[in-house]
Amino acid sequence: DVLVNQIAAGEVIERPASVVKELVENALDAGAQRIEVDIEEGGARLIRVRDDGGGIPAAELPIALQRHATSKIAALDDLESVMTMGFRGEALPSIASVSRFAITSRCAADEHASALAVDGGRMGEVEPAQHPPGTTIEVRELFYNVPARRRFLRAERTEFGHIDDLLRTLSLAHGERRFVLRHNGKPVRDYRAAASEEARLKRLQEALGEGFSSQCLAVAHEGAGLRLHGWLGLPTASRSQADQQFFFVNGRPVRDRVVAHAVKQAYADVLFHGRHPAYVLFLELDPRRVDVNVHPAKSEVRFRDGRLVHDFLFRSLHEALAGTRAGHAAP
Ligand code: ADP
Ligand code: MG
Repeated sequence: DVLVNQIAAGEVIERPASVVKELVENALDAGAQRIEVDIEEGGARLIRVRDDGGGIPAAELPIALQRHATSKIAALDDLESVMTMGFRGEALPSIASVSRFAITSRCAADEHASALAVDGGRMGEVEPAQHPPGTTIEVRELFYNVPARRRFLRAERTEFGHIDDLLRTLSLAHGERRFVLRHNGKPVRDYRAAASEEARLKRLQEALGEGFSSQCLAVAHEGAGLRLHGWLGLPTASRSQADQQFFFVNGRPVRDRVVAHAVKQAYADVLFHGRHPAYVLFLELDPRRVDVNVHPAKSEVRFRDGRLVHDFLFRSLHEALAGTRAGHAAP
């Protein structure tokens, strides 16, 4: 069983950032409002994710560490409309099979917390512990028992950079929650919960810098059951911003050819020939009109009607950008 989990880990867990992704998505699924990520040595030494979500009852702790023990799909039908981030029930057992793993959790109604340690896939006993409502997961010495993978870890800075990028993306997708990131004990990011539009812009500034937030254009369009909102960058000629392109479908970060093409066309048509514009865009649509589970990394989608989505995006962005040329640019 440990072996099966290690093989699964090979598919899901590529590097420390993959662990952070799975743990933070679980925290989001659990309704956490505040998520703290502590990293040591780029994640090779320690990854700790602490949340204030719903927690896991003591009796269910060992179950959560079993393969395909997801609490998130009641029936196969749900797959069609699944809105939660994770649903495969593989992440925790996979991670725990290739690290020194510990989970401490408490449901708000319970009197105390419970903890469970798993060392290289070997599970300990559930024990009483101290913890406020929510969950903390610690992953130490990732890949300590898979030397070939451990050797593949890159420099501390590189691995931490991947984690930083990931949290930036998640913070953009979940503006109403707070994310804190520390590296080797030092505060690195604090994305504060943003309820107002003004606060969201501030957060955008924290994520993408002054250059973006001071000259971006807000977008909001609706039609044909599609809703698009977010911000478009108005890039200066000097800077390529290919690393500042964020597109979310139903809250999920996505890289997609249909989307990329529509955005590029709209910019090229109106303003900026041959540039990589910066943008943060959110598309909402009926989940049945899009397949999100085509890839384990879940960064790809397949629209049921790509043509319609493409044309909607193109028209919405074209209109927004054309407005700026006519002199209606945001301040
Ligand atoms: P999945 O997310 O695909 O269901 P995971 O292996 O990531 O599978 O998690 C297994 C189960 O453990 C989840 O279905 C959930 O019930 C529980 N769980 C994991 N992390 C948390 C958390 N931070 N808060 C509450 N429950 C959690
Ligand atoms: Mg999960």
